[in-house]
Amino acid sequence: MKAVVYKGSHQVAVESVEDSRIEAPGDAVVRITSTAICGSDLHMYDGRTDIAPGTVLGHENMGVVEAVGPGVTSIKVGDRVVLPFNIGCGFCYNCLRGFSSDCLTVNQAAPHAAYGYANMGPFRGGQAEHLRVPYADYNCLKLPGTPGDEHEDDFVLLADIWPTGWHGTELAGVVPGSTVAVYGAGPVGVMAVYSAVLRGASEVYCIDRVPGRLEKARQAGGIPINIDDGDPVEQVMQMRRDSGLQGALRPGEDKMGGVMHGVEAVGFQARSDADASQENPVQPLEDLIRLVNPTGQIGIVGVYPAQDPDGVDEAAKQGRYQISLGQAFTKGLRIGMGQAPVKRYNEYLRDLIIVGRAKPSFVISHRLPLDAAPDAYKNFDARGSEYTKVILKPEMAAAS
Ligand code: NAD
Ligand code: ZN
Repeated sequence: MKAVVYKGSHQVAVESVEDSRIEAPGDAVVRITSTAICGSDLHMYDGRTDIAPGTVLGHENMGVVEAVGPGVTSIKVGDRVVLPFNIGCGFCYNCLRGFSSDCLTVNQAAPHAAYGYANMGPFRGGQAEHLRVPYADYNCLKLPGTPGDEHEDDFVLLADIWPTGWHGTELAGVVPGSTVAVYGAGPVGVMAVYSAVLRGASEVYCIDRVPGRLEKARQAGGIPINIDDGDPVEQVMQMRRDSGLQGALRPGEDKMGGVMHGVEAVGFQARSDADASQENPVQPLEDLIRLVNPTGQIGIVGVYPAQDPDGVDEAAKQGRYQISLGQAFTKGLRIGMGQAPVKRYNEYLRDLIIVGRAKPSFVISHRLPLDAAPDAYKNFDARGSEYTKVILKPEMAAAS
């Protein structure tokens, strides 16, 4: 079969690899109809992980079941399914408590597993014609309809970025009426904005410096804040000072001039507010510690790795980052972080799509055949205005 293979820093190729097949009784093989490129793939593409050359990439996968092992009972050939990027067993201590993001048994080397990803086990990715899915009964989310219908590009976002954006708002404790700041208007940040709006937030600011991405955040119901227009923390605070809510404050309550909830959706490749040419991995988190009010909550879904070969300094190379912990403690902030347990949310989010309450595919800019992957990676890696989210379609004919 054809698959997108990691070749080395800034290099992927579409190659012929061994077909996916049933390897264990609980497996399914899925014919892929849509598979997205993720900002997380870019960490590997940028050479910031120790992913082995030759690895088949792709953890945002959906398609049609083509074969099932003898132990699979609830999923059958022909079912349309989307797969959470995390692979879980469904029976370990963590899966049972809803942390499918931290499955203890699927990957012998670490407490988590995913398709086609550095340090997430031996599983191949789904940027390919077919994908092997372990523990298919647990990992397949069944979908209605037929491939290529009006929900195809909404459903594929259930593999990762919408549940991840939702998880950011969950970790940040967003409830109706919440004031929220989301750092990053990449696909994950835009999905966090969308989720906060669906959860009934009253104000959702989204901070980035790329106009086309901020426009997607606006479409999601957010208030775009461009870093290049000045200190984003001050911009948000000024907007809040200017808002009608001022009339509701008692003396002293102006200490709550920021927002109550923050989502970090940028990760360790974050850029400095002052100089976009420089990386500052803690810039969004430092901003959020300033911006989130005393007793507020922050959810970090941007990735911070345990090792980064190109880290900005020796500490960053070992995944150690200096943040204003004292200020965070003094403000009594609650901070949560980690991989999103996709399975905890994907069924409910699927149903919002089915009944027409949500249509997250507005974030997608490009739908391309598998052969276009090398260019698609290069263009998405520029993190510019045009490439806001790319879906590869293995069944789409390559442009002649
Ligand atoms: P992306 O790289 O496309 O988007 C990142 C955005 O952050 C860009 O638009 C960039 O301009 C912006 N940015 C850079 N520095 C900034 C700063 N200082 N302040 C505000 N914005 C800044 O990536 P994405 O697909 O949106 O993913 C975002 C992060 O989420 C990545 O680290 C990715 O690995 C991570 N992720 C985590 C999970 C999880 O389970 N926790 C799942 C998927 C993705
Ligand atoms: Zn992803």
